[in-house]
Amino acid sequence: MTVENMDNVQIFNSEGKGRGLKVTKEFWPGDVLFAEPPYAAVVFDSLTQNVCHTCFRKQPKLQRCGQCKFAHYCDRTCQKEGWASHKSECSAIKIYGKGPNENIRLAARILWRIEKEGGDLSEGCLTSMDDLQNHMEDLLEDEKKELKVDVHNFLDFWPTTCRQFGVQYISHIFGVINCNGFTMSDQRGLEAVGVGIFPNLCLVNHDCWPNCTVILNNGNHEAVNSMFHTQMRIELRAISKITEGEELTVSYVDFLNLSQDRKKQLKQQYYFDCTCEHCTKGIKDDLMIATIMEEENKPSEEVVNEVMQFTKKTMEKVEKARSEGSFHEVVKYCRECLKKQEPVLADTNIHQLRVLSIISEVLSYLQYFQEAADHARKMVDGYQKLYHPNNAQLGMAIMRAGVTHWHAGLIEVGHGMICKAYAILMVTHGPTHPISKDLETMRAQTEMELRMFQQNEYIYHNMREAALKNQPMKMMEGPSDQAIKDLFHRK
Ligand SMILES: [Zn+2]
Ligand SMILES: [Zn+2]
Ligand SMILES: [Zn+2]
Repeated sequence: MTVENMDNVQIFNSEGKGRGLKVTKEFWPGDVLFAEPPYAAVVFDSLTQNVCHTCFRKQPKLQRCGQCKFAHYCDRTCQKEGWASHKSECSAIKIYGKGPNENIRLAARILWRIEKEGGDLSEGCLTSMDDLQNHMEDLLEDEKKELKVDVHNFLDFWPTTCRQFGVQYISHIFGVINCNGFTMSDQRGLEAVGVGIFPNLCLVNHDCWPNCTVILNNGNHEAVNSMFHTQMRIELRAISKITEGEELTVSYVDFLNLSQDRKKQLKQQYYFDCTCEHCTKGIKDDLMIATIMEEENKPSEEVVNEVMQFTKKTMEKVEKARSEGSFHEVVKYCRECLKKQEPVLADTNIHQLRVLSIISEVLSYLQYFQEAADHARKMVDGYQKLYHPNNAQLGMAIMRAGVTHWHAGLIEVGHGMICKAYAILMVTHGPTHPISKDLETMRAQTEMELRMFQQNEYIYHNMREAALKNQPMKMMEGPSDQAIKDLFHRK
């Protein structure tokens, strides 16, 4: 599959940032700037048996490759489609006796492609593997050691019958993976399941308040023989109006952190100092740490500090309880924390929003939908004041809040949220993405229920009972905090 629409964009020298991409004409929210299949991609070590190695869908039942017994696929179609990138890997794994770790598998897949096609520009690519940044000079001592170990293990795995690459070149590839590895998600976009390299995407620079978003579309493989059959790809989509000649940007990190924390994270993980407008001016920082404003109740600095201390301690306990699966404990701690926070912190305070996010998610999972809905509503109110109106995280949060309200029988608010989420996801994910399709079904369902509710509440409640039994809305399979907030994969 070739890259689509690469004539919409061109490489240029972005001041202070190195190479960047700018557009050759005007774009509007929801427009696809370009779509790109992975140059190479692998499933995480922990999920090799649960996620298809071709389309990265998470499935309860997968078929394994009869040869290496390592690779797993949805079906024959995915196995066939993946064979070109698995063929050499398959025989190497048979000889080696097991699948090596994800980094080594990804490096090997890249090098087998280079063996076949060369390291120069491939068709539809604006940059080549040879040209991508590796940030070797920025690695810390420990990281350099790790890289050496990876290269060493790679050489053990790499078959002697294949083209031999020098240690320096192999190190370059590991460096590229380290700073450009894109997080692959499952078909619902809820869980990180692998890592891949998308060369054109690597050219898009960061901005904390970007004009684009990038979404992985796992493709549609049910319609094998129809014109709707599409392969997995990323799509770079505009989230605001972009004028001709403007630079394209995406955010590498979640916006819901203070500018100083985002800058720190970007420096540590991506080796640059963010000079975006939001960081330079600290835009929205005040809202993120705001306390309640009413004159007569304005909390003293002492009280605020105490709440922050309490929050910090509680969050540690929450993390621990959550990792142990003690969800009732999580709820207890979060309730205590909110009780302290609510009289002091403003509704946009990120420390409170984090607690609201966890408690609403866990309560939904435990099926305490009423209380979950209350917290989710407050969370969404805060998010809407902070996030870009077309932020994908915002859309997903509103969607989950809408489903929670539906479960709680709060059909009016629930339907409103689902419509709102649908509008955002049409921009960030597009109409063909599986999540958008799910949302469309939900929107139709809640619309019908709302009409029924307005006509006759009794019939509505009976029908809802039946609908719940059929469980048409399974957006909440378990509280995962693997929500993918960072674009690129970091250890
Ligand atoms: Zn598949
Ligand atoms: Zn195999
Ligand atoms: Zn920034």
